[in-house]
Amino acid sequence: MRPIIGIGAYPRLVETAFGPTLLHTASRFYVRAVEVAGGVAVILPVTEPDRVGDVLPLLHGVLLTGGGDVQPSLYGATPMDCTSEVNPERDGFEVALLQGAMAAAVPVFGICRGMQLMNVAMGGTLLQDVYVATGQFHHDPHRWREGVHRVKIEPRSRLADALGVTELPVNSVHSQGIDRVAPGVRAVAWADDGSIEAIEADSPQQVLGVQWHPEVLEDQPEHRGLFTDFVEQARRLAARA
Ligand code: MN
Repeated sequence: MRPIIGIGAYPRLVETAFGPTLLHTASRFYVRAVEVAGGVAVILPVTEPDRVGDVLPLLHGVLLTGGGDVQPSLYGATPMDCTSEVNPERDGFEVALLQGAMAAAVPVFGICRGMQLMNVAMGGTLLQDVYVATGQFHHDPHRWREGVHRVKIEPRSRLADALGVTELPVNSVHSQGIDRVAPGVRAVAWADDGSIEAIEADSPQQVLGVQWHPEVLEDQPEHRGLFTDFVEQARRLAARA
């Protein structure tokens, strides 16, 4: 049985034949990475947080994806000028989705904004702009499919087990980053400048997030391990149901 992986959509206002229309979107790279790993990809539109209880029983894994910035008020901060594309509806839905998944032992994998959202939902904080806060440059969209900086991985971690290595090059397309790691969560990967590049929750099932975009690094086979490991955990949950 193939496990069902819910992919959190990125709502975007797009010009259509009917005028500007809000579309619930997911990049083809996420869909393909889930399918290549053996999962069934289902895109989850942003809806009311109280609908999470109806959606979660249909899923065996939750993938939280990239997108705009998390609403700073969720971590007690005032928005800076650099903070953009805030979507409180998406934030509210995904926080509820994460909390519901954790309560139901559904594995969660967060990518970029998805990792940041996880940290905030569990009580951590973000740097609204890594460059402003630290002087370190992590936003290199022109080289989005290349390893542009190295990360070192905590050897005793789910992340290291999934990747099969403790050091590897990653892409870096993020203006924001993790500041304070949430309680019950630990950092498990760092750039050479000390920036946190991955986190894991202290939970029975996988609740793991990475700051880079493994779904577009298909040329580097180690990154595929993140999806195969995630989908394998989802498969185990599906087999128990
Ligand atoms: Mn980076």
